[in-house]
Amino acid sequence: MSTTEAWTHRRLLEWTTGFLEQHGSESPRLEAELLLAEAVGCQRIELYTSFESVPADGKRDLFRELVRQRAAGTPVAYLLGRREFYSLEFHVTRDVLVPRPETEFLVVRALDLLKSHCGDRSPQVADIGTGSGNIAVSIAKHAPRAQVVAVDISSVALAVAADNVRRHKLEEQIQLIESELFDAVEQTAQFDLIVSNPPYITTAELAELPPEVADHEPRLALDGGPQGVSVIEQLIPQAAERLVVGGHLLLEVSPTTVERVAALIEADGRFERLPTVQDLSGLPRVVGARRC
Ligand code: GLN
Repeated sequence: MSTTEAWTHRRLLEWTTGFLEQHGSESPRLEAELLLAEAVGCQRIELYTSFESVPADGKRDLFRELVRQRAAGTPVAYLLGRREFYSLEFHVTRDVLVPRPETEFLVVRALDLLKSHCGDRSPQVADIGTGSGNIAVSIAKHAPRAQVVAVDISSVALAVAADNVRRHKLEEQIQLIESELFDAVEQTAQFDLIVSNPPYITTAELAELPPEVADHEPRLALDGGPQGVSVIEQLIPQAAERLVVGGHLLLEVSPTTVERVAALIEADGRFERLPTVQDLSGLPRVVGARRC
């Protein structure tokens, strides 16, 4: 980045877009804008009215460092320390999975089911493997009567979730528990809805993941064992125990494991399957079941 021509926002964006593209970024322009806005301390949209501005040296150095880390594979969400999910902003660190747009389908389905929940009691929801708390927070925010128990086996992930619960002022609605699945959840607690985006990547797929995911995101949040269902096969019977009759289970799945997950639910014998929700690419994404 050195010629005599001034490094305006416009030039920085153009150069960086090409650079990130060469390094395999799928949205190089967007990422360049997000990183530049972060470095100069403005909103992304404001860059459009300041194309000819020249950032001060310190800001340009910061931008250069962010671009270097991005090109080396660090996800943008970790560089910014935040990610939007379901139109809400979440604090994220390397201790949690970066929330994905696919997971919004699970939230949509969960909110649909909660809408039809009747009775005077507030609906009881459990989110297993909450990570950043994105699912629990999005549900609680849009279903203000719901009470959510959000668990994770990772204490460092729970610290991030706690921060997000505070940011969205949902302390009254969300209880965070450090627990392996339901182990540490009060024995007598029963739920109307159990949701989870569990680790579901198979051992073979883990070896093939792009370095951006494999080298930066927590393995604990991804690794589903040899068949991708090691956690899910423990979760299904526990969910059957913890759901009220008529309660629902929603699991995010990978298109490669959906059949296995469906078979595990059938084999349990205590559920009736709901239609699988597809994502925008038409891929199966959310398996649902009703406790009979
Ligand atoms: N619930 C979080 C998410 O959906 C974390 C999931 C996980 O760590 N497997 O992004």
